[in-house]
Amino acid sequence: MKTVDPAIEARLRSEICPRCSRYTAQGTCSLPASRPCAIFRNLPGIAEIVRRTRSKRIDPYMEGVRLNVCCACPHEDDHGSCPMRDHVDCALDAYLPIVVDYLESALAEEANRGIGDTSPGGSADDPADHPSR
Ligand code: SF4
Ligand code: SF4
Repeated sequence: MKTVDPAIEARLRSEICPRCSRYTAQGTCSLPASRPCAIFRNLPGIAEIVRRTRSKRIDPYMEGVRLNVCCACPHEDDHGSCPMRDHVDCALDAYLPIVVDYLESALAEEANRGIGDTSPGGSADDPADHPSR
């Protein structure tokens, strides 16, 4: 699985964390060390889902997360339930539309610079093809 450029990850943190209920007044994350953030723990896998999905709706991205991330997450039970999701305490679930929008733009820029994977099923330069959620 391709790694994600540290600069992309850093910019995503600066976008997402200040909006997150786990962000503290001191600018830190209140999650315990034993529970790393589902977004940044799974970023390469999430980027892979974004690269191979092209939709104006969030549902296909959410389905990709459920199938590829949640199913391997220690918080999801054998019935597909997750207490973190139920209590709106998973940043990945809560902020997925923002994460997808950001990654689509960042990965398209990376691909245009010739350093990324150019595999998504459409041109990211075409505004009509860019999902609006
Ligand atoms: S839970 Fe994730 S998104 Fe929220 S503040 Fe912590 S690191 Fe940032
Ligand atoms: S919604 Fe639950 S199972 Fe899915 S990544 Fe978040 S904590 Fe893990």
